[in-house]
Amino acid sequence: LTILKIGGAVLQDEAALSAALQFFTGMPGQKILVHGGGRKASDISRRLGIAPQMHEGRRLTDAATLEVVTMVYAGLENKRLVAQLQHMGTNAIGLSGADANIILSEKRKHTTVDYGFAGDVISVQKAPLQALLGAGLAPVCCAITHDGQGQLLNTNADTIAAVLAAGLAADYHVDLLYCFEQPGVMEDLSRPDSLIQELRPDSYARYRAAGVIAGGMLPKLDNAFRAVNAGARKALIADLEGLRNGGGTTIR
Ligand code: ADP
Repeated sequence: LTILKIGGAVLQDEAALSAALQFFTGMPGQKILVHGGGRKASDISRRLGIAPQMHEGRRLTDAATLEVVTMVYAGLENKRLVAQLQHMGTNAIGLSGADANIILSEKRKHTTVDYGFAGDVISVQKAPLQALLGAGLAPVCCAITHDGQGQLLNTNADTIAAVLAAGLAADYHVDLLYCFEQPGVMEDLSRPDSLIQELRPDSYARYRAAGVIAGGMLPKLDNAFRAVNAGARKALIADLEGLRNGGGTTIR
């Protein structure tokens, strides 16, 4: 089973997105696509007069922002990806975490930062996912979850990919692929030749303390380590070129 998460910059670029979806279509075996749509959500938020607010790569989701991310992730982006995949011959089915109760989460507690309607995942229901995969469908999961009490919650898409990988690791050989616009985790974002080929918990801690790794890369790496610790066979962070040709940063 391969779980491919596509990043915001890829989603925003028609040519890059099309290439990523072609790659997904060409992947052998069972597969799940995961996406957010943060850049589009920020864009539409601003157009509605709601200033996007982030903290350590995570969005602060007040009630108005929850409306925007639900419309953008579970609506526009999810359905546009499903339609494009159908066009390419992949029998995709779009899902939020509320659908078939696949991802149950709880509202993040207000500590020093109030993340608002941000959901931390409690559980993954693997039976409906297995049924869909077994029927030859490719689930396309967006970054909206629910709390089981009727409340939708915004959950980081990298987290969704990782919890699905962790939840399915006992039943499948899971490869978790994070596709974004950089060659991988970089020592210096301005130097394309500074790819870090492999990260382990100790080197991650060092790079993090040195400020080399920041922003949206923090939740991405925390999640990649979480998936590997939970039994995923492999986690890779790369651009499409790296995914095709064995490049990128491998998480161990
Ligand atoms: P996504 O594209 O998957 O939605 P984010 O935009 O949240 O992910 O996170 C990816 C971003 O993390 C990159 O675009 C980059 O700006 C940032 N980043 C911070 N540190 C690094 C690093 N050392 N290597 C690569 N990217 C980094």
